[in-house]
Amino acid sequence: MKKKTMWILTINWLKREFPPRRKTYVRTASAERDAGYTALNNNKFIVIVSGDFNFNTRMDTLLHEWAHCLTWFGAEDTTVHPGEWGLSHAKILRAFEKWNYGQPGELP
Ligand SMILES: [Zn+2]
Repeated sequence: MKKKTMWILTINWLKREFPPRRKTYVRTASAERDAGYTALNNNKFIVIVSGDFNFNTRMDTLLHEWAHCLTWFGAEDTTVHPGEWGLSHAKILRAFEKWNYGQPGELP
């Protein structure tokens, strides 16, 4: 499976299995901060994933940022990771391993 396909499948899977309360867009860009970040813009979540890293890091970043979308309380500082974020992140990671891009078996 091509990485581009894996990426799109994962975004669709996240929207289906872990829908945020607001419309959510994912963009790959050269993030000046870290490997990525999430912002609330016009009542929509924008997840920016830096294209400066390899595929596995970009995927980790996407799953990390998605947990921010699910546990957004308001005026976020997404450098902060409260317990709610941790629980949400763990749920996403476990489900992601089971899902394995919709193929039989789990990720190693
Ligand atoms: Zn974070």
